[in-house]
Amino acid sequence: MYDKHLSKYAVIGDPIMQSMSPDIHNACFEQMGIDAEYEAVHVRKDDLEQKVKALIEAGCKGFNVTIPHKLDIINLLDEIDPFAEAIGAVNTVIVEGSKLKGYNTDGPGFYQSLLEIHPLNLKESNILVIGAGGAARAIVKAFLLNGIEQVTITNRTVEKAVELLEGDNGQALPLEEAAARLDRYDIAINTTPIGMVQNINETPISLNNLESHTVLVDIIYNPLMTKFLKAGLEKGCTVQNGVPMFIHQAALSFELWTGRKPDLSLMKRTVEQKLGGK
Ligand code: NAP
Repeated sequence: MYDKHLSKYAVIGDPIMQSMSPDIHNACFEQMGIDAEYEAVHVRKDDLEQKVKALIEAGCKGFNVTIPHKLDIINLLDEIDPFAEAIGAVNTVIVEGSKLKGYNTDGPGFYQSLLEIHPLNLKESNILVIGAGGAARAIVKAFLLNGIEQVTITNRTVEKAVELLEGDNGQALPLEEAAARLDRYDIAINTTPIGMVQNINETPISLNNLESHTVLVDIIYNPLMTKFLKAGLEKGCTVQNGVPMFIHQAALSFELWTGRKPDLSLMKRTVEQKLGGK
């Protein structure tokens, strides 16, 4: 099945065929003259252990892990990076012989993407995170790791926002309360799936109190422009979609596997072309 001279990489998940990871990684392998191939592998929840074994036996050198395996993969690892352990989720695995080491590049990838549009004074900024799922967890941990402790988290299930705060750091609010004081935030980040095709005409929070000084970030990248971001543009806000987070997390995985930095602009172009432009 595999050419033994070709380095093999993959992304595993369910569903997986919509993944753009093969496009961006393969574009970079080709551009950098690296003899490697990256493929999407459909892995159901019950098949995880067996499919991971098959990847190792086939000589796979590393893989990304996406929904629904980011937590379960931890049970199969020989080693876990402390940051991934703190998040409790792994999206990148390095295979060395038969040993697996897990990392999380979602949080650091998000942080790097935020620095592109808001490079100064993050520690003094009022930050609102909307949602308290896996992605929010990685993002909040990345803030903590970079010394930013005072974030506000708002979520449909407010108890989950409280859990994410770990004690005294920041504040947890119901969605309505966060919406009522939206004008106080310098940055508001949507980490929920609200705005994707299933609910394309919705925003994760009411935007009646949005003002132009707030930077809006949506980690959704399909569609490239969600209703949340469109409303921000109409108000004159700076906005960022999920493509920069996606390519930064991918670039960090690429670097972990190959020791080389890929071309971020090639990754960005590849995603935007596939999704039909900006
Ligand atoms: P998750 O763990 O399932 O968390 C989903 C969050 O959204 C939860 O806080 C949930 O609230 C909230 N939510 C879901 N449906 C809702 C609804 N109808 N109304 C209000 N709140 C709702 O998912 P995840 O892994 O964090 O992923 C979230 C999104 O981030 C997905 O769209 C994913 O594609 C995107 N993402 C993007 C990147 C990137 O690189 N750009 C990386 C990772 C994820 P409850 O707690 O109340 O259920």
